[in-house]
Amino acid sequence: MHVLVKGAGVAGLTVAHELSTCGTDVTVVDPHPASGRAASWLAGGMLAPWCERESADEAVLMKGEDAPERWDAILPGEVHKRGTLVVAPPRDHAELRRFASRTTAHQWLEEPDIARLEPALAGRFRQALFFPREAHLDPRRVLTLLRDKLATEGVEFVDTAPDEQDFDAVVDCTGAARIGETDQLRGVRGEMLYLRTDEIDLARPVRLLHPRFPVYIVPRGHGLFMIGATMIETAFDGPIAARSLMELLNAAYALHPAFADATVVETGAGIRPAFPDNFPRVARHGNLIALNGLYRHGFLLAPAMAGEAADLVFNRNAAGRSAG
Ligand SMILES: Cc1cc2nc3c(=O)[nH]c(=O)nc-3n(C[C@H](O)[C@H](O)[C@H](O)COP(=O)(O)OP(=O)(O)OC[C@H]3O[C@@H](n4cnc5c(N)ncnc54)[C@H](O)[C@@H]3O)c2cc1C
Repeated sequence: MHVLVKGAGVAGLTVAHELSTCGTDVTVVDPHPASGRAASWLAGGMLAPWCERESADEAVLMKGEDAPERWDAILPGEVHKRGTLVVAPPRDHAELRRFASRTTAHQWLEEPDIARLEPALAGRFRQALFFPREAHLDPRRVLTLLRDKLATEGVEFVDTAPDEQDFDAVVDCTGAARIGETDQLRGVRGEMLYLRTDEIDLARPVRLLHPRFPVYIVPRGHGLFMIGATMIETAFDGPIAARSLMELLNAAYALHPAFADATVVETGAGIRPAFPDNFPRVARHGNLIALNGLYRHGFLLAPAMAGEAADLVFNRNAAGRSAG
């Protein structure tokens, strides 16, 4: 069996991995792999289903809670299992209580515990929420490593579209490129930036709650931090707006003033593909399978959804998969 996977974002690469692991011949086509055009390249890489539950359905938690183990199986050692810290400025303490009331699997921390977990934040926040079961990874590193691993295992990567008739099945993982063509698929713009500073060190993603603009900071190591992300209902993928840049920088500064002296390394805007319920879908029409709508949860849900896409390719049900 020879399968064509269209798109080398996190959806396409995890599907290619799932198929290749089952012994299938796979070709992946993407005219712009590993580029700022792909949402996957701009993502925070948080595997944070308990925090996401604040605004997401239970299904996201159900499908996403074993994401760290799934990624460990795909690329051993790339997941950092250090949890998520959630803080709020003292005047927005009610936000922290509200967040706690809408989520589970967290612990309340007082100032000394916060300082123990993140020494750089010592004395800055009176209380915090800690989600110990959450994890994060570096999306760019993971996409690059996964692509290399697949290529080594015999998956073919091309940048011009081959004739789809030559394949037994085609899996479309082209994300936001399907907006306007896939029924009900819309774009949710996420603006982000990278800052570099040696003045501060964080071990884990930190979310800063704020009534107007929640923000997160994900450490990438070696003084690099990803700051994200806006949520704007549009598929416009032009450069970051000045207002968004100011708000993200203000939030970083509120977390720690050392960010004021950081260097702005990069800004970007990615389009999260989403269906009305903000939950991904896999669908099959003949020999065409589509996986799309990963919304804010591409890295969280792609490994599980890739399994479902492979089930459709092989015409098997999930029970058949777990039976081997
Ligand atoms: C700022 C931001 C932060 C995020 N943070 C997180 C996070 O912390 N955790 C998390 O789980 N998720 C996060 N997400 C969401 C996640 O990034 C997306 O859900 C995910 O990347 C979508 O993956 P995808 O593979 O469907 O689409 P994409 O990553 O957009 O990939 C689609 C690929 O298809 C290719 N393509 C387009 N047209 C064609 C064609 N005709 N033929 C072949 N290839 C084609 C494109 O070049 C692209 O490489 C974030 C998103 C953004 C924007």
